[in-house]
Amino acid sequence: RKADVECRMLVLGAGPGGYTAAFRAADLGLDTVLVERYPTLGGVCLNVGCIPSKALLHAAAVIDEAAHAKEYGIDFGAPKIALDALRAYKEKVVGQLTKGLAGMAKQRKVRVVQGSGRFVSPHELEVQGEGGTQLIRFEQCIIAAGSQPVKLPGFPWDDPRVMDSTDALELAEVPKRLLVVGGGIIGLEMATVYRALGSEVTVVELAGQLMPGADADLVKPLADRLKKQGVAVHLQTKVAEARPQKNGIACTFDGASIPETKPFDRVLVAVGRAPNGNRIDAHKAGVTVTERGFIPVDRQMRTNVPHIFAIGDLVGNPMLAHKATHEGKLAAEVAAGEKREWIARVIPSVAYTDPEIAWVGVTETEAKAKGLKVGVGKFPWAASGRAIGLGRTEGVTKLVFDEASHRVIGGGIVGPHAGELIAEIALAIEMGAEAADIGHTIHPHPTLSESVAMAAEVYEGTITDLY
Ligand code: FAD
Repeated sequence: RKADVECRMLVLGAGPGGYTAAFRAADLGLDTVLVERYPTLGGVCLNVGCIPSKALLHAAAVIDEAAHAKEYGIDFGAPKIALDALRAYKEKVVGQLTKGLAGMAKQRKVRVVQGSGRFVSPHELEVQGEGGTQLIRFEQCIIAAGSQPVKLPGFPWDDPRVMDSTDALELAEVPKRLLVVGGGIIGLEMATVYRALGSEVTVVELAGQLMPGADADLVKPLADRLKKQGVAVHLQTKVAEARPQKNGIACTFDGASIPETKPFDRVLVAVGRAPNGNRIDAHKAGVTVTERGFIPVDRQMRTNVPHIFAIGDLVGNPMLAHKATHEGKLAAEVAAGEKREWIARVIPSVAYTDPEIAWVGVTETEAKAKGLKVGVGKFPWAASGRAIGLGRTEGVTKLVFDEASHRVIGGGIVGPHAGELIAEIALAIEMGAEAADIGHTIHPHPTLSESVAMAAEVYEGTITDLY
């Protein structure tokens, strides 16, 4: 069969991994086709992930900040929320970025083919679009088909009151009572948004702490604040049954801490994401896919088939946009013949809750579990002039050092802007910085960034009078 389209490089999926890979490949002179099933580029991150969630979290932060201002004599009154306008704002933010991507693709002469792709051979992909089926023949390929929300069985998914993260971001309404199943990053970000907009929020989490993965002492300030704001958190608990009723979704629970059983107006299930590796007939190209749908790759992002690469959520955890973009660039460069490989030591994680929680490298919990010889420097924000001025003294900055070399190997921050502050620690780890390098770097005063230098000084013993 004759191919409808021929190209040197085919990229399957236009999320942060895919569009970065396609743009880099085109910049390096490869004739590139980008296949995406949805009409806009940007994937989960731009359309139904990172970007719309952060736009809504900004609105939530403004509501909370305005309420807080009452404490220092400024009363804005109760917020009046025009949901249509808020939704339009979120859509404008997303639209601006996806339009930008379309322009960048055009500028680079990346050919975008809209439709759902499946491999039919090691050098061919069939794309089913609105206008029919096209066969694309490629020399090399980068698979960037991403992931999708796990649809936990037992929930009445055909009922619109049961939502995944994509539904929750649509902001169809502000439910009076919202149940969030899953106390990880996505669940708690959405809980933050809906609570600020006025929902009564209940969170159930199977693990013994919220945000499993982060150190418990960094999670505590968030848990305390949620409690103060009236969010009911139930740990080591799961939903046993969820039944649709006229007056809501009636749930029963199993576990250590059972919420009051009342029908919920909406239920958000945010228990993780599943890779799309098993949905693209990768086996027809000879590409190995694990049972769970991940595609194994080497340090150059190559699959077991040398001319096919894979990147982003579908090659493994952590499922984060900045990991996908880094991998996308790397795969394109290797495909173009450059001698590159994965050398990043660490990938930062950020929960954009209020307070934010961010961590990078080895956590204290992990260090203890692995028996690593580490020392910890911890700076409580109660001693930061800037944090006091912001009225946010619950923050903590923590650095984890290798005891033998005094090099920083991990860090965690809880507090406003933790997500911005963590980048310095990531850089310090990548640069092999020692405690003295960080402590002796002059940080601007008064900033929250000083807390990073202070944590290093606490470890070094040059600040001793904090506690
Ligand atoms: P994706 O973004 O999943 O893109 C894959 C693309 O491939 C999609 O557009 C899909 O339509 C397309 N595709 C799949 N199969 C086919 C096919 N057969 N044919 C054609 N096209 C196909 N990460 C962060 O780093 N920071 C955050 O703040 C953050 N917030 C998030 C909030 C939410 C609510 C969610 C759900 C996720 C969030 N993430 C965040 C995760 C982030 O969105 C993902 O890690 C990132 O999008 C992964 O990029 P990717 O390129 O691997 O895949």
